[in-house]
Amino acid sequence: FHSLRPHAPLPPPSQPLSLPQYALSLFHSSSHASATAGGDTIFIVDAANGNTLSYSQFIAQIYSLAYSLKKNYSLSRNEVAFILSPPSFHVPSLYFALMSLGIVVSPANPLGSESEITQQVQLSKPVIAFATSKTSSKLPSLKLGTVLLDSPEFLSFLTQPNIGNEVFDSVKVSQHDTAAILYSSGTTGLVKGVLLSHLNIIALIAGYYHLRKTPQEQEEPHPVSFFTVPLFHVFGFFLLARAFSMAETVVFTDRFEFEGMLRAIEKYKITFMPVSPPLVVAFTKSELTKKYDLSSLMLLGSGGAPLGKEVSERFKEKFPTVELIQGYGLTETGGGATRVIGPEEAARYGSVGRLAENMEGKIVDPETGEALPPGQRGELWLRGPTVMKGYVGDEKATAETLDSEGWLKTGDICYFDSEGFLYVVDRLKELIKYKAFQVPPAELEHLLLSHPEIVDAAVIPYPDEEAGQIPMAYVVRNPGSNITEAQVAPYKKIRRVAFINSIPKTPAGKILRRKLINHSLSNGLSK
Ligand code: AMP
Repeated sequence: FHSLRPHAPLPPPSQPLSLPQYALSLFHSSSHASATAGGDTIFIVDAANGNTLSYSQFIAQIYSLAYSLKKNYSLSRNEVAFILSPPSFHVPSLYFALMSLGIVVSPANPLGSESEITQQVQLSKPVIAFATSKTSSKLPSLKLGTVLLDSPEFLSFLTQPNIGNEVFDSVKVSQHDTAAILYSSGTTGLVKGVLLSHLNIIALIAGYYHLRKTPQEQEEPHPVSFFTVPLFHVFGFFLLARAFSMAETVVFTDRFEFEGMLRAIEKYKITFMPVSPPLVVAFTKSELTKKYDLSSLMLLGSGGAPLGKEVSERFKEKFPTVELIQGYGLTETGGGATRVIGPEEAARYGSVGRLAENMEGKIVDPETGEALPPGQRGELWLRGPTVMKGYVGDEKATAETLDSEGWLKTGDICYFDSEGFLYVVDRLKELIKYKAFQVPPAELEHLLLSHPEIVDAAVIPYPDEEAGQIPMAYVVRNPGSNITEAQVAPYKKIRRVAFINSIPKTPAGKILRRKLINHSLSNGLSK
């Protein structure tokens, strides 16, 4: 299948261009062309305290920060900066300033445990870290140390007077350079660092930009989105770059809470929200939604995990004027690999839309490697300019995931219908998604096996209405023992345990997860 969308033009790949330079050039044409021309549009609102950052302030900050970082640290192009922070005004400026210098940004979940962060640092080998006074203690020491985002020093970096775009524009960044390393476990095993190039994200943004409404078509109010998705995850990462490129306003908070979000929708007249499926469920179930004026809301874009057809229908009944669309993508595709455009496509509940611009996809029989026709289920393979360069320092995993022709094996079982709509039906890969957060089973299995009283263990997904899936452990233990709580980020906690005499495995020792999944779904489990 080739994308049925019109081809989105990309800048010539040999032209030196960083993602921030590209985003800034689109921003200039978006803001000139749109009704907001002339005024100073707000880029970011912090819903926790109502503070705002305008576009002109933001641009001055990235120029100032690029200048200060260059002056104060001997950072070289392609070196890595690790970022460990909840969402704040400083995070977008930091991403853009670093990337403009050709420094690779590598943001991680601030809730990660020390051992998880150590693993990530070992993969990406950063020379410097940016953290907050709350998160910095979890970081190992790095060559150039850790800069605290809530320190007076960092504030001074952001606010150097009269700094122009000289430094921002002086470094020649190749589009093929790595822009970001984001963390994902891929189809199997432990966490990996996904190498996304400037071109990967430029291509993604180019697709959206190509689809944007012309000023003549724009009767709609100025787009204001509320980010419930984290900025360290690919979903938030690319949406931030997209919002900047299109001169939109984004609202976020470091203290997410459902009613606070409803209040923000009313207060800031939110028009669009990227969400994960559990939040759509919360919208359909909560009585609180009646207390607030949510009439500004036009579009909810759900992604990161499957959204059930029934949930979509219930949502539509309760909010008939809000378009609910589902996107599908992976960290390895730099974000959304499919698009849903317009109410007719949105009404295909259960589908994740059609392939994004410039993207190719095929369904492959996982046993034979043969391509399958529409209507038949198999593993989805994707190819296109947004597909990652590979996994950092892991040639084996890269070769297993990306074939020699550039196809990315997604590990998802899908089918296309005859009109090119994609349906995700199952996961071939090990990955568990708890509220759209990645939980690699291998990580929890390692932890369980490190317990002296556990002989063997396997972790599988168990269905859960609220979270989508919860991690469930099958444990073979020494007689008379109990497991203690595992040392992991809160969303990775094992929430269900069953004891078993032995873990079913292939002769080569690979866990037969499907067998355990079927077992867990049949009755008679000890909880
Ligand atoms: P991540 O790299 O964290 O974005 O995870 C990517 C994986 O999330 C995909 O390979 C899918 O298994 C799952 N996923 C993302 N979006 C959807 C969706 N709309 N429906 C079903 N699964 C999804």
